[in-house]
Amino acid sequence: AAWQTLWLAMAATRRLADLRRERDHARAAEARAHELARRDPLTGLRNRRGFIEVAEFMLEAARNEAMPAALLLVDVDRFKSVNDQHGHEAGDAVLCTIARRLARWEGPLCKAARLGGEEFALLISGLEGYALAHFAENVRAEIDACDHRDAIGERRVTASIGVAEAGSGSDFQQLYRVADQALYDAKRGGRDQVSLRTRDGLSMPVAGLDRLQA
Ligand code: GH3
Ligand code: MG
Ligand code: MG
Repeated sequence: AAWQTLWLAMAATRRLADLRRERDHARAAEARAHELARRDPLTGLRNRRGFIEVAEFMLEAARNEAMPAALLLVDVDRFKSVNDQHGHEAGDAVLCTIARRLARWEGPLCKAARLGGEEFALLISGLEGYALAHFAENVRAEIDACDHRDAIGERRVTASIGVAEAGSGSDFQQLYRVADQALYDAKRGGRDQVSLRTRDGLSMPVAGLDRLQA
């Protein structure tokens, strides 16, 4: 009987180990699926869903700590003509190069995403006013400086950027609408430029870095 009890105990331990292993596999698969649902497959950046989640979290944290935050909407200029002249695959390569550049700003205070098509976004905490304008202008200049020679030869690819400072009460959807209006201003102003909406609703076009520093 002692032998039988020992045998039963061993069998139970083995079965428990199997169940634990199955549970761990299921959890890992779930975590992978969760992550995949929030990533853009082309560029590897967050997709819209992943971005909204992290942006809402960061906006809430910024509010609690009375820290400034802002949304930058980045839309590639005349991208349709890049596709038309060089093909969709070349267009994809251009998007990936821009995405890699944006990903370099990622960190605890900055999150990047591809919201869809040729529209990207950055959510940045800790910057407002002049420093924020300077950052956005830097993003614009870095996109302009990307090397796309492998995909489309010497052609330049620029982007327009709409920036909205988060107000005390603004949720993501409100902030997105304001940034989109600023983006529209930047497009209408001639593209390859930044337009910023302050917390007080003031609209300011942001001049090039050289002029900002003058
Ligand atoms: P604007 O300066 O006004 O923004 O002009 P635009 O041509 O960039 O804007 P429009 O919205 O007219 O065109 C966007 C183009 O982006 C059209 C679409 O074919 C292309 N596009 C959207 N998603 C993708 C993608 O995943 N890959 C590629 N290669 N092209 C895409
Ligand atoms: Mg565009
Ligand atoms: Mg667009």
